[in-house]
Amino acid sequence: MKYAIALIPGDGIGPEVVGPAMEALDAVGDIYGHVFNYVELEAGGNAIDTAGEPLPENTLEAARECDALLLGAVGGPKWDALPGHLRPERALLGLRAGLRVFANLRPAVLLPQLRRACPLKDEVLIKSNPEGKPQFDVLIVRELTGGLYFGEQGRSNDNKLAFDTETYAWEEIERVLRTGYAAAAVRRKKLCVVDKANVLESSRLWREVAAAVSEDYPSVETSYMYVDNCAMQLIRSPGQFDVIVTSNLFGDILSDEASVLTGSIGMLPSASLGSPQDMLAKDGHPMGMYEPIHGSAPDLAGKDIANPLGTILSAAMMLRYSFGLEQEAAAIEAGVNAVLDAGFRTQDIAQSNDGSEGEKILGTKAMGKAVLHALEGKEFL
Ligand code: NAD
Repeated sequence: MKYAIALIPGDGIGPEVVGPAMEALDAVGDIYGHVFNYVELEAGGNAIDTAGEPLPENTLEAARECDALLLGAVGGPKWDALPGHLRPERALLGLRAGLRVFANLRPAVLLPQLRRACPLKDEVLIKSNPEGKPQFDVLIVRELTGGLYFGEQGRSNDNKLAFDTETYAWEEIERVLRTGYAAAAVRRKKLCVVDKANVLESSRLWREVAAAVSEDYPSVETSYMYVDNCAMQLIRSPGQFDVIVTSNLFGDILSDEASVLTGSIGMLPSASLGSPQDMLAKDGHPMGMYEPIHGSAPDLAGKDIANPLGTILSAAMMLRYSFGLEQEAAAIEAGVNAVLDAGFRTQDIAQSNDGSEGEKILGTKAMGKAVLHALEGKEFL
């Protein structure tokens, strides 16, 4: 099969982490007989520099023509002083809304190989894990096209007052909850709605919708938790969670917190999915946008030290969710596992910078090559 992939490398480390992900996709294509054609597009800071705006209309149009979108990251200090509507991060909001991808799946899994990169004590992990193992596997489903990031915002005439608005409609909540329930039904069958229903009216609506939708998923146990408690519980007892469904703002923050527990933000992939009814992608699948959860890490850019695994694992999610290629997705994940098993680490997931802990420290490109070689069944380096 042939697939058209819109590619937005973006800014900072974006292009550095997208390169190895493309190589992994191509290797999988060679092995399983698929062709991935990339349509490279500009968005973010680089688009501001060349086209004067973070998301040129032709980028969105071209992305819509493709089967899925792979994005590195956008933003950087060069563009920080621009007004809100012209900042690189606006491109992300425009892409999410324009492609109608409203559910952001962020799996936060502590792999056994990275146990020592997790800041939590063994006893904390073991106590909360149903099987008594020092591991956790949480899927955070973040609502992506509503809430505070898309609500009305503004300033008073004298610029001394600013406001942002949290607005949610029943349908917006329902569709993301259904994505969460569908995921929970094939996982450990537990779904926790995270909100601030003791204060926010919009959160109370979330609970009403969850109560109604949960009736369609009797095999899944539904619970509710305030976001402040959830921030604490993720540290005290991450193993208690299976699927968390939450709003745009809360999901943004909680998934960064969860990422640190997995060892590094550089490890975490994400998939942003639309509804099957939209059928935006040409092949009849709902459009999907795939990206690591980290940003453009200006502190690492150009140094060949960023961790590319979150982006490579995002490519695996693309194969699974947009193209229905489960075996191919699993092959990439197995490749990443094999490389970690063999002791290869980028700096962010290493115990020390000099390899004194028996690990082999690799740069971005070399880590990408190691995964490639694992996929192709060759010696790693
Ligand atoms: P960031 O995720 O870029 O970096 C946070 C920290 O994590 C830094 O210490 C960085 O070195 C580290 N880190 C990030 N990615 C890593 C990787 N692959 N390997 C190893 N370490 C990694 O977040 P930030 O510093 O808050 O933001 C930097 C820029 O990125 C800003 O302009 C911000 O607006 C933008 N941003 C973009 C996205 C996106 O494109 N989706 C998301 C978040 C932030």
